[in-house]
Amino acid sequence: MAINDGDDDNPVYPLVAGFANGENLMVWCLWCCVWHSHGHDPADAIGSVEHRSAHCYTNDSPYKESGGYNVQVSSRSFASVRKLVKEATPAQQEDIHAGRSSEAIGRLRSQPQPAP
Ligand SMILES: [Zn+2]
Repeated sequence: MAINDGDDDNPVYPLVAGFANGENLMVWCLWCCVWHSHGHDPADAIGSVEHRSAHCYTNDSPYKESGGYNVQVSSRSFASVRKLVKEATPAQQEDIHAGRSSEAIGRLRSQPQPAP
């Protein structure tokens, strides 16, 4: 279900930054605390925006409820931003998937999102 802006024909999706990594566009997900990978045409202009379905594995992700997000192609490469955020460990991903939280997961989720 898309966020309702009163215009059913033009749903509003959250805008997130996408960082090119070859033929992938990487999006930091603050709900899953991992990078989601999307297909990407390297010829796409920096600043262009494309809609993508979210690959969220957590059921409480607003990105799932909104029907995905709009990804804006950043001028920054994935290599230059990937270390700016800490990803959830496999055990933490299991907890997140199961809807469990912890202080550590709360800290992961409150990390600033890499700017476009
Ligand atoms: Zn996600």
